[in-house]
Amino acid sequence: MSERFVPKGDPLCVDVLGVWGWEYYQKFVNTECFKTPGLLAGKSEAEINRYKTDLAVYGLAGESGEVIDVLKKEFFHGAPRNREAEVKEAGDLMWYFALFLASRGITMTEVLKANMEKLVKRHAEGYFDKAHA
Ligand SMILES: [Mg+2]
Repeated sequence: MSERFVPKGDPLCVDVLGVWGWEYYQKFVNTECFKTPGLLAGKSEAEINRYKTDLAVYGLAGESGEVIDVLKKEFFHGAPRNREAEVKEAGDLMWYFALFLASRGITMTEVLKANMEKLVKRHAEGYFDKAHA
């Protein structure tokens, strides 16, 4: 990874385990990927966020289809598992997911934490319990 994308000393760059932080990834998605000259020129912050939200939701739908297509080839066409394609398409989904959250002012960490808390509550007895769902 080039220094341009992983600047030294950026506290968002790595988490406590020393791996890429979610917030850094989201910042990368929300900034580095939108530097095409003129792309967002003249737009207000609200218009930029709306543009990114629209792009993200269309992208999530499209990339979900690409994941399904990879699985279809394996499950129905007899192709060997294509783990590399699964990773690639999962990354595409992640990109749009991170962008969606950024465009709505939500952090990746906020979502992970809220989801973890929901799951812990839902599995309060150590297994799924409809009463806690
Ligand atoms: Mg894709």
